[in-house]
This record gives sequence, C-alpha cells and structure tokens, in this order.
Amino acid sequence: MDIAQNLNRIYQQIAQYQTTHTVSLLAVSKTKPFCDIVAAYQAGQRLFGENYVQEGVEKIQQAQQQHLNDITWHLIGPLQSNKTRIVAEHFDWVQTIDRYKIAERLSQQRPAHLPPLQVLIQINISDESSKSGIQPEQLMDLAAQVVQLPNLQLRGLMAIPAPTDDIAQQQAVFKQMATLFQQLQQSYPNLPIDTLSMGMTDDMQSAIMCGSTMVRIGTAIFGKRN
Ligand SMILES: *Cc1c(COP(=O)(O)O)cnc(C)c1O
Repeated sequence: MDIAQNLNRIYQQIAQYQTTHTVSLLAVSKTKPFCDIVAAYQAGQRLFGENYVQEGVEKIQQAQQQHLNDITWHLIGPLQSNKTRIVAEHFDWVQTIDRYKIAERLSQQRPAHLPPLQVLIQINISDESSKSGIQPEQLMDLAAQVVQLPNLQLRGLMAIPAPTDDIAQQQAVFKQMATLFQQLQQSYPNLPIDTLSMGMTDDMQSAIMCGSTMVRIGTAIFGKRN
C-alpha cells in the first residue's frame, strides 16, 4: 500500500472530474495508525477526517508533538453531548451537526484563543434508518439557529448517502444535496457557505460531477479498514 501513490492518483482524478470549482480532498484516516497520517502529510495532504472523538484527539495531539501544525482536522463521525468539550478544544471542523443542543455546546465550549469552529449541517438524504443527520425540511430552521452562535461558522452541508452501485441513483441523491446547498447559499448571501461535503471512495466521481466541493476518501488512500 503506497499512500503517496494513492494520493497522487486521487489528486489527478479530482483534477480530471472537477469543472466549475476546486474540489478539496479530505483524507479519512479512521482506524489507521498515525504513521499513515505522516505518510500522507509528507505527500502533501493537509486535510484529515476522523470519525471517533477519542481516536481523533489522540492523533491531533501526536501531530502537535511532531510539529505537523498546518493540518486541518475534521470530525466526520457522530457527536454525543458529553464529548463536545474535547471536540471544541481540538478539532477545526465538525461536519456532523444535526442538533441545536450540540451546536450550542460547541459554541459555548470553543476556547477563546481559537478561531470559530467551522461546521457543516449533516443531512440524512437517503438512509432513513440511520439516526445521523436531519431531514431536508428541517435545514432552514437549524441553519437559522446555528448562524446565531458566536463561536461557530456555518460553512455548508454534509451527507452520507446509502451506498449503491447505480450511478443514476448516486447522482439523483447528490443533485438533491446540491439543490439544498444552493438554497442555503441563497438564504445567507453574506456568509461563506462554500462547502458541500459528499463523495467517498465508491462514489467520488458522481459526487464531483453533481457539485461536491469536498470529497472524503479513506479506502482509496489508506487501504481497506479491518
Ligand atoms: C469512513 C468514512 C468515509 C470514507 O469512506 P471510504 O469508502 O473508505 O472512502 C467518508 N465519510 C465518512 C463519514 C466516513 O465515515
């Protein structure tokens, strides 16, 4: 598994698929050892996503000890209210906002010396059974509350669609997300709503073609997880 080679292949694919705007790559390092993050860092990767709070915080602390200070860390897994403080103290972004109570705690607990926590609202766009994410109809109400919080900055939306090999189905769901994203941008023309986080290893191309601005890739960079 050559992480640098994998990354370069994905950078090239992104460059090939993107058309109207730049798409950034979030390297999803959950369950992978810290040395894999270092390998990706040495290949030029700077955005990393972790799913589990404790594991993520340990890696953030290791990165600080090794002076890898220009990494941007995204929490992409579910967040319980008893873990908000440690997240507010360590992460740069939280992509999984789906309750006002969590957002409010993150804002209250964000240390004053850090910039505002950058957040995305997670939409439960296709997987009815999953508990994560809000329904599309709830977006405008939650957004209106989140934008009032002083130590959070709303940047856009995130979704994890139900996996399918059907390209037309992938694209239909991603297009629904793109429409919601445009509605959010139009509602807040003065805010930097610039991030639509969608697309993983198996549906990256569809996501980019439908307007993703950030793909979250694990397996294609670091190999299969156990
Ligand atoms: C694990 C995970 C990814 C990466 O998935 P791959 O299929 O390995 O690329 C992306 N987003 C979220 C929220 C994840 O949990």
